[in-house]
Amino acid sequence: MVLANRPRHHHASRGTPSGHPPLLRFLGLPIKIGGETVGMIGLANKAEDYTEEDALFLQPLLDTLGALFYALEVEKSRHYAEQKLRYLAETDVLTRLPNRRAFIERIAEFYAQESAPFSIAVVDIDYFKLVNDQYGHQVGDEVLQEVAFRLSSALRSDDLVARMGGEEFGVCLYDTQDAPTLEVLRKTIAAEPVLTSEGAVNVTVSIGACQVSSQRCADRWEDDLRYADLALYRAKKEGRNRVRWHMPSMATNFT
Ligand code: GH3
Ligand code: MG
Ligand code: MG
Repeated sequence: MVLANRPRHHHASRGTPSGHPPLLRFLGLPIKIGGETVGMIGLANKAEDYTEEDALFLQPLLDTLGALFYALEVEKSRHYAEQKLRYLAETDVLTRLPNRRAFIERIAEFYAQESAPFSIAVVDIDYFKLVNDQYGHQVGDEVLQEVAFRLSSALRSDDLVARMGGEEFGVCLYDTQDAPTLEVLRKTIAAEPVLTSEGAVNVTVSIGACQVSSQRCADRWEDDLRYADLALYRAKKEGRNRVRWHMPSMATNFT
């Protein structure tokens, strides 16, 4: 507390900035959370001297403000913790891409809301087990990180890419039944070897894709993802390092 009935003579006085009304008397009261001062109320220029009673009279106000400041701090930390938990729950640690759960949550939303057509695709690294076998798991991880980076760099900001698990990525392309974009993704991986701590490693991906029509029901994503998987299987069978689209005739396998 600062109780100064002749503020200019107070040892802590630093004067007032120019243009400030003159301070004839001053009472400064700390707002505290626990023992820590987190704010201050300043009163000035009462007709008579400030007294300890004035401070006591205002104590309930200071306590209330302290409680409000505290509640605000608690709310801020809760919000921060919640954001952090959500990030951890939705993010793949190795690649920092959204994980399978986040991918599915988001595409399920699109199925329920958006009316424009879009595409979903599954991108799988070819012969990835050989990379691990030949160079070790650490290099495998480096390859996964670089593939994740190249995929997200090649996509538009509206598109979605996620790590579905292992060496498999999920992609969602908006507003378009976009064969060229998937070719770009395939080429962007195959074009340059990945530079790892054990040297350059050639990597290719196979991609299976499915067009999502504008007439759809909300729970259709599960089937479409399986159709993309089926197309991926075809891409693998036909030699890998290629994009294959789901053909509607293949749908009979699931209905
Ligand atoms: P294909 O061309 O048919 O896809 O063959 P593949 O070898 O890529 O597929 P397979 O499913 O046989 O092997 C996938 C490998 O991916 C096996 C597994 O050890 C490895 N893998 C999965 N997750 C990780 C990871 O986080 N880090 C590393 N380094 N390897 C992983
Ligand atoms: Mg693979
Ligand atoms: Mg796989």
